[in-house]
Amino acid sequence: MKIVVLKFGGTSVGNVERIKKVAKIIVAYKKKNRKVIVVSSAMSGTTNDLIKKSQKLSSNFDQAEYDTLLATGEQIACALIAGRLNDLGYKSRSFLSWQIPIITDGPHKAARIDSINKKQILLFINSGGIPVVTGFQGINNNFRITTLGRGGTDVSAIMMAKFFNAEECVIYTDVEGVYTTDPRNHKKAKKISKISYDEMLEMASLGAKVMQPTSVQDAKLNNIDFTVRSSFIKKSGTLITNPKKAFSNQIITGITATKNESKITIVGVKDRPGVAASIFKPLSLNSINVDMVVQNISLNGKETDLTFTIKSEDVKKTEKLIKLNKKISFRKLNCDNNVSKVSIIGVGMIATPGITYRMFQALASKKINIMVISTSEIKISVLISNMFIKKAITALHKEFKLD
Ligand code: ASP
Ligand code: MG
Repeated sequence: MKIVVLKFGGTSVGNVERIKKVAKIIVAYKKKNRKVIVVSSAMSGTTNDLIKKSQKLSSNFDQAEYDTLLATGEQIACALIAGRLNDLGYKSRSFLSWQIPIITDGPHKAARIDSINKKQILLFINSGGIPVVTGFQGINNNFRITTLGRGGTDVSAIMMAKFFNAEECVIYTDVEGVYTTDPRNHKKAKKISKISYDEMLEMASLGAKVMQPTSVQDAKLNNIDFTVRSSFIKKSGTLITNPKKAFSNQIITGITATKNESKITIVGVKDRPGVAASIFKPLSLNSINVDMVVQNISLNGKETDLTFTIKSEDVKKTEKLIKLNKKISFRKLNCDNNVSKVSIIGVGMIATPGITYRMFQALASKKINIMVISTSEIKISVLISNMFIKKAITALHKEFKLD
């Protein structure tokens, strides 16, 4: 009999009533004679509260202590779930990452799971128990507690599925699955029944907040199918799988919009080799992630304008780095915080010509100006003014027959 991994997100375990519901879901699997591993994140709001406390004590809170602090949220949720299962007559216990152990590599706050010792968990499952494992955390080679980055319980669940060779991995959350676009803002959004890893990865990275992007990457690398579904209502969710199994006739699978995007334009930089490298080197050294880039063709061969986008939180730092950069000269620095990146995503575009045209035409017909464009094999992104996000998504949703 193979194992099923059930992951519960923060809102799914957000209060005791929700935890009772979660216990019911777990019991239903158990009643079907399944071997279950539960992975839980902290009750919603807990992790944020802990972060705020650390910030009140220090603007430079020690990273190892930060991880030790944040990891407590998951401990609370797991003990509550296991305790409830016990109350219902089921053998269950919590497992903290160091008790398993789950060994991680890499820096605090952004560690990666290296290995999971299966022995104790297997013993417990085979004795009829339901292990409830803390997500989001591990320990490193110095026996310090580490965390996997915000939303990291998704990673924990996928890696559990990998190491235990699970036949199923279910991500329980507060939405019914992955939608063609954000259902909170668009009435015509539809639940997607199956989607490929790459499409999901683009969706997750481009603003659909269903899954933590690293976890999708891990699932893809290890070829682990998983389902995203709601713990609130009993409805089928979305299967995330390989492109063969996910195949559909849709050209475009989903449309996303990112917020917190800023556009920086450096006007009148010298048009000579090495300038772009000189501009981006200090940004890269300061871990500022540059996303879309365009350089205008220079009219006189002497000067050009360079435009790129970054996360809004990096604007101040970026402006400072550019102004302090002695390797470049320019006439003006412009910054626009009211921009958003709208993307259409779908493996279908690889084999279908004319998608770019249809996207631009749909936006043009609504008089929406495109500032920057970037493409990959399975996505086209445009930068537009914030105020047109809704209009743009509505038009594209219709154009690509997702309504
Ligand atoms: N509790 C952690 C967070 O809020 C991990 C998770 O939710 O997956 O980021
Ligand atoms: Mg969370």
